[in-house]
Amino acid sequence: MGALDGRAALVTGAARGIGAAVAKRLAADGAAVAVLDLDASAGQSTVDAIVADGGKAIAIGADVTNAEAIDAAVDQVVAELGSIDILVNNAGVTRDNLLFKMSEQDWDTVLGVHLKGAFLASKAAQKHMVKAKYGKIVSLSSVSALGNRGQANYSAAKMGIQGFTRTLAIELGPFGITVNAVAPGFIVTEMTAATAERLGVTPEQLQNATAEVTPVRRVGQPDDIANAIAFFVSDASSFITGQTLYVDGGRKIG
Ligand code: NAP
Repeated sequence: MGALDGRAALVTGAARGIGAAVAKRLAADGAAVAVLDLDASAGQSTVDAIVADGGKAIAIGADVTNAEAIDAAVDQVVAELGSIDILVNNAGVTRDNLLFKMSEQDWDTVLGVHLKGAFLASKAAQKHMVKAKYGKIVSLSSVSALGNRGQANYSAAKMGIQGFTRTLAIELGPFGITVNAVAPGFIVTEMTAATAERLGVTPEQLQNATAEVTPVRRVGQPDDIANAIAFFVSDASSFITGQTLYVDGGRKIG
């Protein structure tokens, strides 16, 4: 028996990276999982991997910044999987630049995907969760919330996620819904490979340099984040809400 047997989950940005690892982990724990990404075909490989392991999953194409598309996606989850018990707000982008070079578009894009995206998906999901008097919402923050050169937009969005999480925890707690955030440190994905390219080094060089300044002396893998999220969406964490857990190998305190 899995910890999430009978539950239905929606994971945004789950075609690859952390989102794909989370979708696979929740499915392995027994949940039926909706794999949402910009394009449904992009999420199909995550769905195929889940199904090949004996799990249940569907792919949905939607842009998290589009209210109509997200409402329709949540309705599709409920229609096809029977409910929406778990929402993981994971979709994300970076548009890094120093403040004086950061365009208004780069600011809007990053705030839009992370903050407006989490707002729209949570608003659509809570409608069903409140009725069911049950729900788990987890959003992705980041160590960059604490400040990171070249990421004024991303840092603001990721700290915004922490305030959003605390407020939702207060509003939705009476309805049996917990709301938490996970703040990863450096995780090996295409997002951090793109950071390496921007800095003019290889992904391996950036990983090695980051591992050296990380107390546990390694960088993170998507499964490190999936492990933490699996806890927050399980009933083992039912008295924990409004929290942000840094999963960063000690970077925050290092
Ligand atoms: P990733 O590999 O770039 O994957 C992000 C996924 O989100 C992609 O599949 C992307 O689709 C999708 N996406 C982007 N915009 C979207 C939108 N508007 N609607 C729906 N899907 C969208 O990133 P990751 O490294 O796995 O990061 C996942 C989350 O963890 C993000 O919120 C990120 O900020 C956070 N995080 C990551 C790290 C890290 O070190 N990797 C550290 C801290 C926090 P496309 O491919 O089509 O763009």
